[in-house]
Amino acid sequence: MTHLEDIPARPPRTVAWPSWVDPIVQARYEAAGIERPWAHQVAAAELAWAGRSVAIATGTASGKSLAYLLPALTAARGGRRQGGTTLYISPTKALAADQLRGLDELGVPDAVATTYDGDTPTELRTMARAHATYILTNPDMLHRSLLPSHHRWAGFLRALRFVVVDECHEYRGVFGSHVAHVLRRLRRVCAGYGATPTFVLASATSADPAGTAERLTGVPAEAITDDASPRGATSFALWEPPWQLGREEQERRSVLAETADLLADLVIADARTVAFVRSRRAAETVAGLARAALRSVDPDLATRVASYRAGYLAHERRALEASMQSGELRGVAATTALELGVDISGLDAVLIAGWPGTLASLWQQAGRAGRAGQDSLAVLIASDDPLDSYVVHHPHVVFDRPVEATVLDPNNPYVLAPHLCAAAAEKSLVAADIDIFGPAAPDVLAQLEAGGQLRRRGERQPRWHWTKRDRAADLADLRGSGGLVTLVEPATGRVLGTVDSVRAHFTAHPGAVYVHQGETYVVRSLDLVDGVALVERGTPDYTTSAQEVSDLRILGEVAARRSGPARLVLGDVEVASQVVGYTKRLLGTGEIVGSEPLDLPARELRTRSVWWTLPDEAVAAAGVPEADAAGAAHAAEHASIGMLPLMASCDRWDVGGLSTVRHIDTGLLTVFVHDGHPGGAGFAERGYHAASSWLGATRQTVADCPCEHGCPSCVQSPKCGNGNEPLDKPGALRLLEALLT
Ligand SMILES: [Zn+2]
Ligand SMILES: [Zn+2]
Repeated sequence: MTHLEDIPARPPRTVAWPSWVDPIVQARYEAAGIERPWAHQVAAAELAWAGRSVAIATGTASGKSLAYLLPALTAARGGRRQGGTTLYISPTKALAADQLRGLDELGVPDAVATTYDGDTPTELRTMARAHATYILTNPDMLHRSLLPSHHRWAGFLRALRFVVVDECHEYRGVFGSHVAHVLRRLRRVCAGYGATPTFVLASATSADPAGTAERLTGVPAEAITDDASPRGATSFALWEPPWQLGREEQERRSVLAETADLLADLVIADARTVAFVRSRRAAETVAGLARAALRSVDPDLATRVASYRAGYLAHERRALEASMQSGELRGVAATTALELGVDISGLDAVLIAGWPGTLASLWQQAGRAGRAGQDSLAVLIASDDPLDSYVVHHPHVVFDRPVEATVLDPNNPYVLAPHLCAAAAEKSLVAADIDIFGPAAPDVLAQLEAGGQLRRRGERQPRWHWTKRDRAADLADLRGSGGLVTLVEPATGRVLGTVDSVRAHFTAHPGAVYVHQGETYVVRSLDLVDGVALVERGTPDYTTSAQEVSDLRILGEVAARRSGPARLVLGDVEVASQVVGYTKRLLGTGEIVGSEPLDLPARELRTRSVWWTLPDEAVAAAGVPEADAAGAAHAAEHASIGMLPLMASCDRWDVGGLSTVRHIDTGLLTVFVHDGHPGGAGFAERGYHAASSWLGATRQTVADCPCEHGCPSCVQSPKCGNGNEPLDKPGALRLLEALLT
């Protein structure tokens, strides 16, 4: 354990019910055991009731829903004409269903609430349009269904008074940028019906919630961040797996083995525990290892540990959820699927295997423990990664730092273009509408007009029309996944689950080892066109990891400045990348026992990148011999990619990189860190603006790592296309130092 933080208990601060709250709404809450609301709930509710948009960013289980339900239900009591309607938007169907259950239990008369999503039957949809005062939906449904057919929703939209955007920190990166435009389209359509709804955004604690809310909705918002809900004391430990003797040299014990041991120990101690892991495969591994450890102690305990992840089919998910609620299960290894509103109360401990990407997610996951004001334990276990090792040795990063801002970029032209088309299809665009879509809109509109997607009519007061037969909304894929690949076992016809098609290049290529509920499968074929991977049961004693190569050209510079002898640039690039093979590593030791070529299609990406160049004299002056420069640049690239998530709400898979001693476009030693999505997602841009703290933390973590030649905790990367060759750790340190002078 590298650090133990005692987070003291916090007493509740309650206030009186606002005088405008409908007496029946108040009575229902009182009957449900809420005698007085907490101060932050009322502060947010007052703003919303006054028609001022508000972002409420407080901890898990701080009752954010009461803050928007007080005004929404009070309005619903007046019906559509006197009061007004509410549109509630959540990132998942599961969360919306959970919210509806809560509303039904509250049972406020006249609040006609219903979900509107892919599962809603037609009769219910008709009812929703005609009578509902409170509709729960998701951005995908707004985008694909409600906005394109807004005429049928005229009655609801004309009366729209509140728009609730729940779990809004989920809307980050490209997905966040898409949702920002869906909300702008919603505002525009509402304006056509004479409605200007007030936005209430609920978020996990995050830096600058008001700014994020404004980027997301396009309207100014006030922030409520002072959490007045009670909290039990939490012991928060930072934990680093020990060094052990590997096959050839000292290496760190794996984060999953360490997490599994802690999970087993906590289960023995009768603590109800969830271990959060990053990947679906990791969830299977941790549950499997914990069960194996428990079997020797008490076979019954071994049966009370399970894994839970996104990608399970609905009935598998429900069965696991039910036994978790009942306490029949005592230990669960879960992917972050659980983060999204699935309510598991009464946890004693939370284990977090590896930095979860953002400080906001870390607190969100840790906040799952000790719900009823009970004391609780949270442990962050470092994985073999530069960011993780930095964090567990610099506790101030976790405990004394405002959480990172949620990054999204509504000005990405790739994201904006399809939404302008969709908006024009909903109602032809006029010049005054363009402002809603931000400063990039005029250029993008001109391109769409030139490309024939939109047709302009009229000279003095032009209108832009969508004239094609296709549905304009089909142009944008909000989740940006570019489709899904379904894993099927042909021997039984069983569908194992789904992965998004970009990730499929890495995890569902022919020969890939895929683990599902403790069973191991080997992928036999991958059909990216039809989105199907065929798998068969197997018992390989190895895991697989894909190898990717990429090539990068600079398209143009957006901004540049000096940093010591280096030049730091933000610009647009074109990246061609291809998964060309995979390696097999023995389970346990990690020894490489083979590698195979693959024949997968190349992927092309135009995106945004941050890069820095160093002239030859500066490289020499830094004490890096020519022969070591490639390894030094490569090591610096890996470490800086690993540290970017500390500055921006991205994860390592959202960004890529490339380094070279002489790039064809710069003629100099160049290190690129680029967004992994078309048009960029704001991550590289954030790196450019936060360069000194980003590269400073990168230098620090490389300098502090006790290894001699580089390890996964500093300069090695799990997704390196070159098998982590060459890498020169001391050289990387000298380059970064030169950069920071
Ligand atoms: Zn190291
Ligand atoms: Zn590499």
